[in-house]
Amino acid sequence: MTLTDHNWQTFEHTHVWHPYAPLEGATLSYPVKSAQGVHLRLEDGRELIDGMSSWWSVIHGYNHPVLNAAAKAQIDKMAHVMFGGLTHRPAAELAERLILVTPEGLDRVFFCDSGSVSVEVAIKMAIQFWHAMGRSTKQRLLTIRHGYHGDTCGAMAVCDPDTGMHHLFRHVLPQHFFADAPLSRNDEEWNEKDIAELQTIIEQNHTQIAAVILEPIVQGAGGMRIYAPEYLRRVRSLCDRLEVLLIADEIATGFGRTGTMFACEQAGIVPDILCVGKALTGGYLSMAAVLTTGMISRGISLQPPKAFMHGPTFMANPLACAIANASIDLLINGPWQQRVAALETAFHHHLGPCREIPGVADVRIKGGIGVLELVEPVDMRSITKRFVDKGLWLRPFGKLVYLMPPYIIEKQDLELLLAGTVEAVREELAD
Ligand SMILES: *Cc1c(COP(=O)(O)O)cnc(C)c1O
Repeated sequence: MTLTDHNWQTFEHTHVWHPYAPLEGATLSYPVKSAQGVHLRLEDGRELIDGMSSWWSVIHGYNHPVLNAAAKAQIDKMAHVMFGGLTHRPAAELAERLILVTPEGLDRVFFCDSGSVSVEVAIKMAIQFWHAMGRSTKQRLLTIRHGYHGDTCGAMAVCDPDTGMHHLFRHVLPQHFFADAPLSRNDEEWNEKDIAELQTIIEQNHTQIAAVILEPIVQGAGGMRIYAPEYLRRVRSLCDRLEVLLIADEIATGFGRTGTMFACEQAGIVPDILCVGKALTGGYLSMAAVLTTGMISRGISLQPPKAFMHGPTFMANPLACAIANASIDLLINGPWQQRVAALETAFHHHLGPCREIPGVADVRIKGGIGVLELVEPVDMRSITKRFVDKGLWLRPFGKLVYLMPPYIIEKQDLELLLAGTVEAVREELAD
């Protein structure tokens, strides 16, 4: 092996892909040596405050003693064992916790490896359920525009066809139904017109539709849009009336990010199928889960092939389960609600006034999520450098500069993060 402290980065830059980035001629990535709390420490010794929780996942901060201890204890017993024919206590304990913290009635659990895969599983579950019910025509999905559900083929097919980053694959994807996303914001009056298109589509096509899939309250990577809870209640009642299942993708919103443990709670609705991921292991390992009701699992189990036709190699990985258990316990026993509420207050204070900055089109805030939408797309290289020079880590996309720091961020770091973000955006817009 020939890599040294001096050349490993050049090697990596030549040979390794990064998310949604070209491999040849890409911008250099910032090398991280270690991370602690809300701080990323770069190889050159600089420290950055992480405003992204590594894409929604690191809610308790990096290098958390409790999560580290859970990982170390489990790794000395077994890091992994197959889930086919075998089982283990960490999986049972995680199922118990998930059933406890998710909305009432979701008490059947399928473990899988990533958010995208959980969306695939949810879609297959809905289709297999209707197949078992003798309703095999119900194979299509209905979703709303500006959604993001992942990068695998089934998930891509329900992402926004234009903003969803998967445009070039559209001819190989199954064709689903798309309705306009609601325009009523979470901080405004509900507008009855918002449900009209979805209602028309579902009324005319329910014999073909297995499920509606959407991100409740906050649409993430498809546009960082925040909408009125009434919309979810309307969708829920249309689904009930027309025998269509409701899949809630809470991979981004789950585990407290929007101010409630799950965003569905804000509308008082329970989906038939729920996807969780991202913050499930506190950002330690890739793991996701799909929860559903006894009605769905019984439906599937009573008709051939009886088995639900999915089973990843690393299903219910014990190490990931053990860390997820510790992460959920930190939430259950900690003041996450006050912390997320404090984030929301600070966002209003610092980001609210940005509406007045020329070049800022909109400011949106919900729980631990703060979004500045600009008029023009940002120059990624330039704005990222500004953030890093100020000791901050953010990852804007398109016209969106957004924040979702770890819940444990201290007041002083939060002030630095928010003041620095606003300053960097002002400078970038003035340039
Ligand atoms: C991130 C995300 C996914 C995909 O999860 P991966 O773990 O990246 O596969 C799906 N849905 C939503 C809402 C997400 O935010």
